[in-house]
Amino acid sequence: MVTFGTATAAPGEKDTGRLEVGETRDGSTFGLPVAVVNGVDDGRTLYIQAASDGDELNGVGVIQRTLPQLDPTELSGTILVCGVVNYHAFQVAEHRNPVDDTKMNRAYPGDKTGTSSERIAAATFNAAISADYVLDLHQGSTSQMIDEVRVRCGTRHRLHEECLELAKVFGCGYILDQKGPDGQLARAAPDEGVPTIDPELGGCVGWDEQSIQRGVDGVFNVLHYYGFLDGHHDTRPQTRASGFEQYGSPVGGLIDLKPDLGDRVSRGETLFEVTDVFGEPKAEITADSSGVFWRARRLPQVATGEYVCSVGTNIDTY
Ligand SMILES: [Zn+2]
Repeated sequence: MVTFGTATAAPGEKDTGRLEVGETRDGSTFGLPVAVVNGVDDGRTLYIQAASDGDELNGVGVIQRTLPQLDPTELSGTILVCGVVNYHAFQVAEHRNPVDDTKMNRAYPGDKTGTSSERIAAATFNAAISADYVLDLHQGSTSQMIDEVRVRCGTRHRLHEECLELAKVFGCGYILDQKGPDGQLARAAPDEGVPTIDPELGGCVGWDEQSIQRGVDGVFNVLHYYGFLDGHHDTRPQTRASGFEQYGSPVGGLIDLKPDLGDRVSRGETLFEVTDVFGEPKAEITADSSGVFWRARRLPQVATGEYVCSVGTNIDTY
Protein backbone atom coordinates (compact mmCIF):
# COMPACT_ATOMS: atom_id res chain seq x y z
CA MET A 1 0.00 0.00 0.00
CA VAL A 2 1.10 3.52 -0.75
CA THR A 3 -0.59 6.33 1.13
CA PHE A 4 -0.49 10.07 0.49
CA GLY A 5 -2.97 11.96 2.69
CA THR A 6 -6.22 10.03 2.40
CA ALA A 7 -5.27 8.58 -1.01
CA THR A 8 -4.31 4.90 -0.66
CA ALA A 9 -3.43 2.53 -3.47
CA ALA A 10 -2.33 -1.11 -3.57
CA PRO A 11 0.06 -2.19 -6.35
CA GLY A 12 -1.77 -1.80 -9.67
CA GLU A 13 -4.19 0.81 -8.32
CA LYS A 14 -4.61 4.55 -8.24
CA ASP A 15 -6.53 6.72 -5.83
CA THR A 16 -7.18 10.37 -5.07
CA GLY A 17 -7.75 12.07 -1.74
CA ARG A 18 -6.84 15.01 0.45
CA LEU A 19 -3.71 15.93 2.35
CA GLU A 20 -5.05 17.81 5.37
CA VAL A 21 -2.93 20.74 6.48
CA GLY A 22 -5.12 22.75 8.87
CA GLU A 23 -8.29 24.78 9.00
CA THR A 24 -9.62 27.77 7.08
CA ARG A 25 -10.83 30.92 8.89
CA ASP A 26 -14.30 29.46 9.48
CA GLY A 27 -12.82 26.42 11.21
CA SER A 28 -13.37 23.96 8.35
CA THR A 29 -10.54 21.52 7.80
CA PHE A 30 -8.97 21.84 4.36
CA GLY A 31 -6.81 19.46 2.40
CA LEU A 32 -4.72 19.69 -0.74
CA PRO A 33 -5.97 17.48 -3.61
CA VAL A 34 -3.56 14.56 -3.92
CA ALA A 35 -3.26 11.37 -5.94
CA VAL A 36 -1.28 8.14 -5.78
CA VAL A 37 -0.56 5.93 -8.78
CA ASN A 38 0.93 2.69 -7.43
CA GLY A 39 2.56 0.67 -10.17
CA VAL A 40 2.00 -3.07 -10.37
CA ASP A 41 5.80 -3.52 -10.48
CA ASP A 42 8.39 -2.16 -8.07
CA GLY A 43 10.42 0.84 -9.11
CA ARG A 44 11.28 4.37 -8.20
CA THR A 45 9.03 7.18 -6.93
CA LEU A 46 8.22 10.40 -8.76
CA TYR A 47 6.61 13.34 -6.95
CA ILE A 48 4.83 16.01 -9.00
CA GLN A 49 3.23 19.17 -7.67
CA ALA A 50 1.43 22.13 -9.26
CA ALA A 51 0.07 25.58 -8.34
CA SER A 52 2.71 26.33 -5.73
CA ASP A 53 1.96 29.83 -6.99
CA GLY A 54 -1.82 30.13 -6.93
CA ASP A 55 -2.24 31.84 -10.32
CA GLU A 56 -0.05 29.33 -12.19
CA LEU A 57 -2.60 26.96 -13.62
CA ASN A 58 -0.72 25.32 -16.52
CA GLY A 59 0.73 22.75 -14.10
CA VAL A 60 -2.79 21.88 -12.93
CA GLY A 61 -3.64 21.41 -16.62
CA VAL A 62 -0.68 19.05 -16.99
CA ILE A 63 -1.87 16.94 -14.04
CA GLN A 64 -5.47 16.96 -15.27
CA ARG A 65 -4.41 15.63 -18.66
CA THR A 66 -1.73 13.22 -17.39
CA LEU A 67 -3.52 11.35 -14.58
CA PRO A 68 -6.28 9.80 -16.72
CA GLN A 69 -3.58 8.47 -19.08
CA LEU A 70 -1.65 6.68 -16.32
CA ASP A 71 -2.45 2.99 -16.04
CA PRO A 72 -1.01 1.56 -12.78
CA THR A 73 -1.07 -1.94 -14.28
CA GLU A 74 1.55 -0.74 -16.80
CA LEU A 75 3.65 1.23 -14.31
CA SER A 76 6.81 0.33 -12.41
CA GLY A 77 7.20 2.38 -9.25
CA THR A 78 4.98 5.04 -7.76
CA ILE A 79 3.78 8.52 -8.71
CA LEU A 80 2.69 10.90 -5.96
CA VAL A 81 0.84 14.03 -7.06
CA CYS A 82 -0.25 17.20 -5.29
CA GLY A 83 -2.53 19.01 -7.74
CA VAL A 84 -2.84 22.33 -5.89
CA VAL A 85 -0.16 23.29 -3.36
CA ASN A 86 -1.04 26.92 -2.66
CA TYR A 87 -4.60 26.15 -1.58
CA HIS A 88 -5.53 29.60 -0.32
CA ALA A 89 -4.02 31.50 -3.27
CA PHE A 90 -5.73 29.16 -5.74
CA GLN A 91 -9.15 29.94 -4.21
CA VAL A 92 -8.74 33.64 -4.98
CA ALA A 93 -6.64 33.25 -8.18
CA GLU A 94 -3.66 35.06 -6.70
CA HIS A 95 0.06 34.34 -6.81
CA ARG A 96 0.78 34.51 -3.07
CA ASN A 97 -0.98 32.89 -0.13
CA PRO A 98 -3.40 35.62 1.06
CA VAL A 99 -3.40 34.25 4.63
CA ASP A 100 0.22 35.30 5.22
CA ASP A 101 1.07 37.19 2.00
CA THR A 102 3.90 34.75 1.29
CA LYS A 103 5.23 33.24 -1.91
CA MET A 104 5.11 29.46 -1.35
CA ASN A 105 8.32 28.88 -3.27
CA ARG A 106 10.27 30.86 -0.66
CA ALA A 107 8.90 28.80 2.26
CA TYR A 108 10.59 25.39 1.68
CA PRO A 109 11.44 23.16 3.49
CA GLY A 110 8.66 24.62 5.62
CA ASP A 111 7.76 24.21 9.27
CA LYS A 112 4.88 22.06 10.50
CA THR A 113 4.24 24.42 13.42
CA GLY A 114 4.91 27.62 11.45
CA THR A 115 2.92 30.04 9.30
CA SER A 116 0.18 28.98 6.88
CA SER A 117 2.63 28.75 3.95
CA GLU A 118 5.31 27.04 6.04
CA ARG A 119 2.86 24.33 7.12
CA ILE A 120 1.78 23.63 3.53
CA ALA A 121 5.42 23.63 2.46
CA ALA A 122 6.32 21.16 5.23
CA ALA A 123 3.46 18.81 4.31
CA THR A 124 4.39 18.73 0.63
CA PHE A 125 8.13 18.65 1.36
CA ASN A 126 7.64 15.37 3.23
CA ALA A 127 6.20 13.82 0.07
CA ALA A 128 8.90 15.38 -2.11
CA ILE A 129 11.81 13.97 -0.12
CA SER A 130 10.20 10.52 0.01
CA ALA A 131 10.58 10.42 -3.79
CA ASP A 132 13.53 9.78 -6.13
CA TYR A 133 12.71 12.68 -8.48
CA VAL A 134 10.63 15.84 -8.08
CA LEU A 135 8.84 17.97 -10.69
CA ASP A 136 7.59 21.31 -9.27
CA LEU A 137 5.39 22.67 -12.08
CA HIS A 138 5.45 26.45 -12.42
CA GLN A 139 5.10 29.10 -15.13
CA GLY A 140 6.15 32.71 -15.57
CA SER A 141 3.06 33.79 -13.66
CA THR A 142 0.78 35.86 -15.93
CA SER A 143 3.71 37.34 -17.89
CA GLN A 144 4.53 35.88 -21.30
CA MET A 145 7.46 33.47 -21.18
CA ILE A 146 9.09 30.68 -23.17
CA ASP A 147 8.63 27.11 -21.97
CA GLU A 148 11.77 26.22 -20.00
CA VAL A 149 13.05 24.18 -17.07
CA ARG A 150 14.94 25.66 -14.12
CA VAL A 151 17.76 23.95 -12.29
CA ARG A 152 18.01 25.86 -9.02
CA CYS A 153 20.50 23.93 -6.86
CA GLY A 154 23.55 25.77 -8.25
CA THR A 155 26.43 24.42 -10.30
CA ARG A 156 28.51 23.48 -7.24
CA HIS A 157 25.79 21.34 -5.66
CA ARG A 158 26.54 17.61 -5.41
CA LEU A 159 23.25 16.86 -7.20
CA HIS A 160 23.78 19.41 -9.98
CA GLU A 161 24.44 16.79 -12.68
CA GLU A 162 21.37 14.76 -11.69
CA CYS A 163 19.12 17.84 -11.67
CA LEU A 164 20.50 18.94 -15.03
CA GLU A 165 19.89 15.48 -16.47
CA LEU A 166 16.29 15.56 -15.23
CA ALA A 167 15.85 18.99 -16.88
CA LYS A 168 17.25 17.68 -20.15
CA VAL A 169 14.98 14.64 -20.02
CA PHE A 170 11.89 16.80 -19.37
CA GLY A 171 12.95 18.49 -22.58
CA CYS A 172 11.22 21.87 -22.99
CA GLY A 173 14.08 23.04 -25.23
CA TYR A 174 15.42 25.65 -22.81
CA ILE A 175 17.08 25.33 -19.40
CA LEU A 176 17.88 28.09 -16.93
CA ASP A 177 20.77 26.71 -14.87
CA GLN A 178 21.17 29.26 -12.11
CA LYS A 179 21.12 28.94 -8.31
CA GLY A 180 17.73 30.10 -7.03
CA PRO A 181 16.74 32.05 -3.93
CA ASP A 182 16.48 30.41 -0.50
CA GLY A 183 13.20 28.64 0.16
CA GLN A 184 12.66 27.14 -3.29
CA LEU A 185 11.66 23.47 -3.41
CA ALA A 186 14.15 23.02 -6.26
CA ARG A 187 16.88 24.08 -3.81
CA ALA A 188 15.66 22.46 -0.60
CA ALA A 189 14.90 18.98 -1.99
CA PRO A 190 18.34 18.50 -3.64
CA ASP A 191 19.84 19.30 -0.22
CA GLU A 192 18.01 16.16 0.97
CA GLY A 193 19.41 14.15 -1.94
CA VAL A 194 16.44 14.31 -4.33
CA PRO A 195 16.99 15.60 -7.89
CA THR A 196 14.41 18.33 -8.43
CA ILE A 197 13.50 20.63 -11.31
CA ASP A 198 11.18 23.54 -11.72
CA PRO A 199 9.59 23.33 -15.19
CA GLU A 200 8.34 26.82 -16.14
CA LEU A 201 5.51 26.21 -18.58
CA GLY A 202 5.09 29.49 -20.42
CA GLY A 203 3.06 32.24 -18.82
CA CYS A 204 -0.59 33.20 -19.21
CA VAL A 205 -3.82 34.14 -17.53
CA GLY A 206 -5.70 30.87 -17.18
CA TRP A 207 -4.49 28.04 -19.39
CA ASP A 208 -2.18 27.86 -22.39
CA GLU A 209 -2.75 24.62 -24.31
CA GLN A 210 0.65 24.61 -25.99
CA SER A 211 2.53 25.01 -22.70
CA ILE A 212 0.34 22.39 -21.03
CA GLN A 213 1.12 19.93 -23.83
CA ARG A 214 4.86 20.62 -23.38
CA GLY A 215 4.40 19.77 -19.71
CA VAL A 216 2.49 16.55 -20.42
CA ASP A 217 5.21 15.52 -22.89
CA GLY A 218 7.83 16.36 -20.25
CA VAL A 219 6.18 14.14 -17.63
CA PHE A 220 5.99 11.21 -20.06
CA ASN A 221 9.61 11.78 -21.13
CA VAL A 222 10.58 11.43 -17.46
CA LEU A 223 8.42 8.32 -16.98
CA HIS A 224 9.97 6.62 -20.01
CA TYR A 225 13.56 7.67 -19.41
CA TYR A 226 13.67 6.62 -15.75
CA GLY A 227 11.89 3.28 -16.33
CA PHE A 228 8.44 3.99 -14.84
CA LEU A 229 6.91 3.09 -18.20
CA ASP A 230 8.09 0.83 -20.98
CA GLY A 231 9.37 2.56 -24.02
CA HIS A 232 12.21 4.83 -24.66
CA HIS A 233 13.08 8.49 -24.53
CA ASP A 234 16.12 9.95 -26.23
CA THR A 235 17.18 13.29 -24.83
CA ARG A 236 17.77 16.17 -27.22
CA PRO A 237 20.27 19.00 -26.79
CA GLN A 238 18.81 21.93 -24.86
CA THR A 239 19.59 25.63 -25.07
CA ARG A 240 20.96 26.52 -21.66
CA ALA A 241 21.23 29.97 -20.06
CA SER A 242 23.31 30.34 -16.91
CA GLY A 243 22.65 34.07 -16.53
CA PHE A 244 19.41 36.02 -16.38
CA GLU A 245 19.17 39.80 -16.87
CA GLN A 246 16.02 41.71 -16.00
CA TYR A 247 15.12 45.06 -17.52
CA GLY A 248 12.92 47.74 -16.01
CA SER A 249 11.69 50.94 -17.62
CA PRO A 250 13.68 54.13 -16.91
CA VAL A 251 10.55 56.23 -17.54
CA GLY A 252 6.79 55.93 -17.35
CA GLY A 253 4.72 55.33 -20.47
CA LEU A 254 3.76 52.60 -22.91
CA ILE A 255 6.17 49.97 -24.10
CA ASP A 256 6.73 48.43 -27.52
CA LEU A 257 8.69 45.16 -27.28
CA LYS A 258 10.98 44.57 -30.26
CA PRO A 259 12.08 40.88 -30.15
CA ASP A 260 9.66 37.97 -29.98
CA LEU A 261 9.93 35.41 -27.18
CA GLY A 262 12.72 32.95 -27.95
CA ASP A 263 14.53 35.31 -30.35
CA ARG A 264 18.30 35.58 -30.08
CA VAL A 265 19.28 39.13 -29.14
CA SER A 266 22.68 40.75 -29.48
CA ARG A 267 24.33 43.12 -27.07
CA GLY A 268 23.24 46.66 -28.00
CA GLU A 269 20.10 45.52 -29.80
CA THR A 270 16.89 47.38 -28.92
CA LEU A 271 14.69 45.40 -26.51
CA PHE A 272 11.87 47.92 -26.14
CA GLU A 273 10.85 51.52 -26.71
CA VAL A 274 8.75 53.64 -24.39
CA THR A 275 6.42 56.31 -25.75
CA ASP A 276 4.14 58.72 -23.93
CA VAL A 277 0.37 58.68 -24.10
CA PHE A 278 0.50 60.97 -27.17
CA GLY A 279 2.92 58.75 -29.09
CA GLU A 280 6.11 60.74 -28.50
CA PRO A 281 9.22 58.56 -27.98
CA LYS A 282 10.69 58.79 -24.46
CA ALA A 283 13.29 56.02 -24.22
CA GLU A 284 14.87 53.15 -26.10
CA ILE A 285 16.38 50.32 -24.03
CA THR A 286 19.07 48.05 -25.45
CA ALA A 287 20.42 44.68 -24.34
CA ASP A 288 23.44 44.77 -21.98
CA SER A 289 24.41 41.25 -23.08
CA SER A 290 23.64 38.84 -25.88
CA GLY A 291 21.21 36.04 -25.16
CA VAL A 292 17.67 34.74 -25.62
CA PHE A 293 14.59 36.94 -25.19
CA TRP A 294 13.04 34.95 -22.36
CA ARG A 295 10.14 36.69 -20.60
CA ALA A 296 8.16 39.92 -20.86
CA ARG A 297 5.33 41.73 -19.13
CA ARG A 298 1.93 41.42 -20.72
CA LEU A 299 0.51 44.88 -20.05
CA PRO A 300 2.00 47.78 -22.05
CA GLN A 301 1.78 50.50 -19.40
CA VAL A 302 4.79 50.94 -17.09
CA ALA A 303 5.91 53.28 -14.32
CA THR A 304 9.53 54.29 -13.80
CA GLY A 305 11.46 51.27 -12.56
CA GLU A 306 8.73 48.78 -13.34
CA TYR A 307 9.66 45.33 -14.72
CA VAL A 308 9.52 44.98 -18.52
CA CYS A 309 11.44 41.91 -19.71
CA SER A 310 14.22 39.37 -19.13
CA VAL A 311 17.03 37.98 -21.28
CA GLY A 312 18.68 34.61 -20.63
CA THR A 313 22.44 35.08 -21.02
CA ASN A 314 25.65 33.02 -21.11
CA ILE A 315 24.00 30.69 -23.61
CA ASP A 316 25.36 27.28 -24.49
CA THR A 317 23.94 23.95 -25.63
CA TYR A 318 23.65 21.15 -23.13
ZN1 LIG B 1 5.80 29.90 -9.92
